[in-house]
Amino acid sequence: MSALRTADVIVVGLGAMGSATCFQLAARGVSVIGVDRHEPPHAYGSTHGDTRITRLAIGEGTEYVPLVRRSHDLWREIEEQAGVQLLTRSGGLVLAHAASPFLEQTRASARRYGIAHENLSSAELVERFPMFLVDEQTEAYYEPEAGYVRPEAAVRAQLELARHHGAQLRLGEHVEEWSASADGVIVRTDRETYAAQQLVLCAGAWIPQLFPEGSDIFAIHRQLLYWFPIREGYRQFRDMPTFIWDFGGEKHGFVHLLGFYGFPAVDGPRGGVKVATESYEHTTTPDGRQHPATRREIDDMYRRYVAPHVPWLAGEPLRTSSCLYTSTRGSRFVIDRHPEHDEVLIVSPCSGHGFKHSTAIGEAVAQWVTGGASDIDLSAFGLAQARR
Ligand SMILES: Cc1cc2nc3c(=O)[nH]c(=O)nc-3n(C[C@H](O)[C@H](O)[C@H](O)COP(=O)(O)OP(=O)(O)OC[C@H]3O[C@@H](n4cnc5c(N)ncnc54)[C@H](O)[C@@H]3O)c2cc1C
Repeated sequence: MSALRTADVIVVGLGAMGSATCFQLAARGVSVIGVDRHEPPHAYGSTHGDTRITRLAIGEGTEYVPLVRRSHDLWREIEEQAGVQLLTRSGGLVLAHAASPFLEQTRASARRYGIAHENLSSAELVERFPMFLVDEQTEAYYEPEAGYVRPEAAVRAQLELARHHGAQLRLGEHVEEWSASADGVIVRTDRETYAAQQLVLCAGAWIPQLFPEGSDIFAIHRQLLYWFPIREGYRQFRDMPTFIWDFGGEKHGFVHLLGFYGFPAVDGPRGGVKVATESYEHTTTPDGRQHPATRREIDDMYRRYVAPHVPWLAGEPLRTSSCLYTSTRGSRFVIDRHPEHDEVLIVSPCSGHGFKHSTAIGEAVAQWVTGGASDIDLSAFGLAQARR
């Protein structure tokens, strides 16, 4: 019989949050076992599809700004250590009518934190960003430091760095159950049993399976990413900022964007432009498979969002990909201790906007685990707030 494998901390799930946490813990000299049922980066959870928007003035609430600011520093540190480019400051736009609460909150965050930005009128938008067809009521917030981050490369880089610092990474291994007591935690997988002092659950869309007490908090929704081909104006698409286009309208439940968003053409003239909207019609469960867009979904995306607003893109996508949101009411993050076990942390920051904060979340969780508190205040992200 093999000896029980032990560490100071076990991290379950090595996607955006788990890879950042493992790296930050291992870099502090903490002994870590990281376990993932797949081989991250992979395309079955929430951290794939080439690009993620990052922006400093957070329209979801000012409490997120310190996390994204710290993440921008950390992307650069990780780039230097790993020798890869992760963050591109392409600039970022939020387009909306003046009444949009998201636009207003974005501007309020920028004012409060002194984030460089410009407010553009409809005429200025047409002149500077002619790839967008806007009406006279549409205006924009432009942030030069915004841009996009590379999710797969970021996960790969942080796992490599974690390994370099001594983390034991167990990939393709499924955590079936865990328990906690005054002596620490025990984690049983389909292959081995591990023991540690603390456990960090970063299981993304699988979190309800490992934390069933929270299954009333989290809802899993399939989202779709589309790469539409460029018919004309490749250079403008290559050089354009990321954008979030808020159409306004009544929002309820999980919805925080009625509109669509997109990225510059990062894969050359034939790679298309990636765009997406948000969908909350049906909940789902992760099954380790891709569920690309159906014919109806493609036609709907092009007709409702792309054709009227970015008509220089053609209607037949080069590819589509499904990706999972783990959402809470109000789209809030959950980063908190387990209600019954102090030595277990639940780290579930998604609701479609977690990636840009992930490196700072990894650092803050590592600080919590090692010192009981983090430099950045995470008290806004408790289980109680997500339940409200
Ligand atoms: C379509 C889409 C677009 C998005 N756009 C943006 C954006 O533009 N900007 C932004 O900031 N954020 C964005 N997000 C959100 C962001 O990508 C997520 O917040 C983030 O990727 C979540 O990371 P995670 O670590 O929680 O989950 P994941 O990266 O999915 O990691 C969870 C991991 O846990 C593993 N796991 C689960 N259960 C077990 C188990 N029992 N045993 C072992 N391993 C297990 C899984 O295999 C997986 O690797 C988007 C998300 C989606 C889906």
